[in-house]
Amino acid sequence: MGRMSATPSRQSATDAPDERRRVLLAAPRGYCAGVDRAVIAVEQALEQYGAPVYVRHEIVHNKYVVKTLEKKGAIFVEETGEVPEGEIVIFSAHGVAPEVHKEAERGKLATIDATCPLVTKVHKEAVRFAKEDYDILLIGHEGHEEVIGTSGEAPEHITLVDGPDDVENVEVRDPEKVVWLSQTTLSVDETMETVDALKGRYPNLLSPPSDDICYATQNRQTAIKQVARDADFVLVVGSRNSSNSVRLVETAIAHGARDGRLIDNADEIDEAWLEGVTTVGLSSGASVPDVLVDGVLEWLSERGWEDVELVQPVEERMQFSLPKELRRDLRAEAAARRTG
Ligand code: SF4
Repeated sequence: MGRMSATPSRQSATDAPDERRRVLLAAPRGYCAGVDRAVIAVEQALEQYGAPVYVRHEIVHNKYVVKTLEKKGAIFVEETGEVPEGEIVIFSAHGVAPEVHKEAERGKLATIDATCPLVTKVHKEAVRFAKEDYDILLIGHEGHEEVIGTSGEAPEHITLVDGPDDVENVEVRDPEKVVWLSQTTLSVDETMETVDALKGRYPNLLSPPSDDICYATQNRQTAIKQVARDADFVLVVGSRNSSNSVRLVETAIAHGARDGRLIDNADEIDEAWLEGVTTVGLSSGASVPDVLVDGVLEWLSERGWEDVELVQPVEERMQFSLPKELRRDLRAEAAARRTG
């Protein structure tokens, strides 16, 4: 692996131009607190209850993580109805609609809800605004699991707005009683563009009480913007169905990188992309374990990109406790051990 600069942030390349090959490694990158919690929840459940443990949808949008958990005994299903009666099912970090909880009850399933607390926050906002009879304009990507889950909280009140171009299609009952919410993993810049366009149509549009785009998405975009200023080419490690990973490539290109690619791992890098490239920017989506980034650094190091400079515009320390169902059972087990 390449040499890592000890300084948490760096000088601009324009201050000291040189032609040496180097990697600008973005931080924060990779696992966010919600993904970390969801992956640990599956691992703990396998340890606590034994295999198999069923997981509805990919626990997080990353192939490597899903395959690793499958090897340990997790079974991934598309629908709750595929889980045999009485078994344990874990809901993914992206969240589920209330109807999915009801389905699980009907199937007599034990559930562990690994929905990220920051997604749950958006669900609660949707429920509250629906109760107050607002029309809710949910900015997000059609078909994304998180959007399906949030919409399911109040389908009769929620309209999906899939980017600025979709604003002209929006219809509401009362233009004076409209609020916007968003998916947690969008591009900050594009979302504000959509909000501005919505405000053009609905000047009294209400904003959510706090940002719905989560801290992890925002921090990774802030870091990649700084990297992109000095990178010729940006590599982002992440799966194609990972919204926040896709947004990182788009953000890098919009903020100065000549080009960029999303890759699942080092095997997908095409050497032709890096012809004439001196500075490679590197980051990873919120569902990507650092072992995959290490593989890319190794690949680059073998080809002359040995110097690695960390670009860290923000520090990140967020942590979430495990889902309550697991905490309850872990506590019960610890108590039994003490009395036994
Ligand atoms: S990306 Fe944000 S909302 Fe999604 S799991 Fe991570 S912290 Fe939670």
